[in-house]
Amino acid sequence: MAEKFQVVVIGGGPGGYVCAIRLAQLGLKTACIESRGALGGTCLNVGCIPSKSLLNLSEEFHKVKFLSNKGIEVGDVKLNLEKMMKSKDKAVTVLTKGVEFLLKKNKVTYFKGHGSFKSANEILIKNEKGEETLIESEKTIIATGSVPVSLPGIEFDEGIIVSSTGALKLNKVPKKLVVVGGGYIGLEMGSVWSRLGAEVHVVEFLDHITPGMDKEISKEFMKILKKQGINFHMQHKVEEIKKNNSGALVSTTDKDGNTKDFDCDVVLISVGRKANTNGLNLEMTGVELDERNRVITDKNFKTNIENIYAIGDVIQGPMLAHKAEDEGIAVAEIIAGQSGHVNYDTIPGVVYTTPEVASIGKTEEQLKDKNVSYKIGKFSFMANSRAKAIDDAEGFVKILADEKSDKVLGAHIIGPHAGELIAEIGIAMEFGASSEDIARTCHAHPTFSEAVKEAALSVDKRAIHS
Ligand code: FAD
Ligand code: NAD
Repeated sequence: MAEKFQVVVIGGGPGGYVCAIRLAQLGLKTACIESRGALGGTCLNVGCIPSKSLLNLSEEFHKVKFLSNKGIEVGDVKLNLEKMMKSKDKAVTVLTKGVEFLLKKNKVTYFKGHGSFKSANEILIKNEKGEETLIESEKTIIATGSVPVSLPGIEFDEGIIVSSTGALKLNKVPKKLVVVGGGYIGLEMGSVWSRLGAEVHVVEFLDHITPGMDKEISKEFMKILKKQGINFHMQHKVEEIKKNNSGALVSTTDKDGNTKDFDCDVVLISVGRKANTNGLNLEMTGVELDERNRVITDKNFKTNIENIYAIGDVIQGPMLAHKAEDEGIAVAEIIAGQSGHVNYDTIPGVVYTTPEVASIGKTEEQLKDKNVSYKIGKFSFMANSRAKAIDDAEGFVKILADEKSDKVLGAHIIGPHAGELIAEIGIAMEFGASSEDIARTCHAHPTFSEAVKEAALSVDKRAIHS
C-alpha cells in the first residue's frame, strides 16, 4: 500500500525544504523528495553558500597581503587551495546536515531519490540503488529548481569548460580564466579566482554588466572591478570554444565584426540558468510549461492542474534563494487556507563581490520607462565616518523616491555591507515609508547605515556630511 501524504514537495532546495517545514508547522502530513543525496538544493550545495565561502576566504587571502600598509607586519602569505576548498566544503556539509535535522524536527518525511509523477496524485521515487517507492499525495509542489545553461554546441566538462559548479571546485588556480557572461555568477566567481591570482577576462554580450541593475550603479561597479584587475571585453560574442593541450581557445567577435581569441586554462560559462523539469514525467500530468521550460502558475502558485503547484527557480521571476523561500512559505500557507503572499516589488538582489552591490525596487531606467516622476538622494561612502575609519569607502547609496508623495520606490547601494544595508530599505518599502521617514530615524554612529540616512536626507537636498 502506497503511503499517503497531504502534501508532497519535489525538490529539497531553499524553495522546497522551507515549504515542507512550513507545511508541517501548519499541521499537514508532508514529504520532501530530494535526488542529490543532500538537502539545501543548488543554493547550499553548489550555489550561494560555497560561493560566499570562497568569496570570503579569497577576500581574506587578498587583504592579508596588504596588511603591512596598515602597520600589521605578516610573514610570507601562501595559498593552500586544498585546505581552502576543505573549509568551503565543511561549511556546505554543516548546513546541509542542519537542514536534514530541521526536516526531522518538524516531522517532515524525507525521501532520498528522484521523484516523478506516475499520475497527478501518485509520485514514484527511485533511489540511487534503483529501488522504487510509490507514494500518494493530495497536493504536490514542484520545487525542482534550475540548472546552468551552456552556449549552443558547447558542453561543460567541469574541468576546462566549467559551469559555476566546476568553478567552485577547481584544484588549481588558473593562470588565465575566461568568464563568459558578466552577471552574478561571472562577477562573483571571477572575483574569487582573480583574488587568488588568476588573470580574469570577462566576455560580455551587452555593453554593460549585470543587466537589469540601475545603470549608474552598474557603471560604477565595472569601474571598481576594472581597478581590481578584472579585464572586460564588452559587446563581444563567443563564436567557438576549442579545447587544446593547455586548456581552451575562446574565439569571439565584437559588434563591428572584429575577432579576438583568448588562450586560457579554464572557461567559465555563466550566461544564465534554466528551469529544471527533467525526468518529472510532467507529460503524464498535463502541467503546462512556458517557452523557457518554466512551469506556468497563477498568483497562488497553482499550475493548470488542480492539485499541482510550483515555486522557486522552476517558475518565472528572479532566480534567487530568498524568492524561492518566500514562495515556499506563501504556497504552504495558501494550501493551509491562509492568505500567503509574496511582494515581488521588494525582493532584494545582492552581488557579494567587494564592494557588495545591492538593490531593491525600481531602477531609474524603470521609473523613466513608466513615466514616474522621482527624486534622487545620493550619499558617498567617502563621506561616511565608519567607512573612512576602516579604509573601505568605495561606492554610494542611491535612493529613489516619488516626486510628490516622497514614498521610497527603490534603492541601490554599492559599498561595504550593501547586502545588509538594503534590508533597512526593504522594511521601509514594506511599510510604505517615505524618504523622510528614513531620514528622521536615528541611526547609530559611526555605522555604514548612516550613509542610508544621509542618502534619504539628500532626497530633500539636506544631507549633512556632503
Ligand atoms: P534549487 O536550489 O535548484 O533546488 C532544487 C532541488 O530539487 C535540487 O537540489 C535538485 O537536486 C532537486 N530535484 C530536481 N529534480 C528533482 C526530482 N525529480 N526529484 C527529486 N529532487 C529533484 N541566490 C541567492 O539568493 N543568493 C546567492 O548568493 C546566490 N548565489 C548563487 C551562486 C551560484 C553559483 C548559483 C548557481 C546560484 C546562486 N543563487 C543565489 C541562486 C539560488 O541558488 C537559487 O535561486 C535557489 O537555489 C533556488 O531554489 P529552488 O529551491 O527553487 O531550487
Ligand atoms: P545572469 O543572468 O546573472 O548573467 C548572465 C550574463 O551573461 C548577462 O550579463 C548576459 O548579458 C550575458 N550573456 C548571455 N549570453 C551571452 C553570450 N552568449 N556571450 C556573452 N555574454 C552573454 O546569469 P548567471 O551569472 O549565470 O547567474 C544565473 C542566476 O543565478 C542569476 O541570474 C541569479 O539569479 C542567480 N545567482 C544569484 C547570485 C546572488 O544572488 N548573489 C549569485 C549567483 C547566481
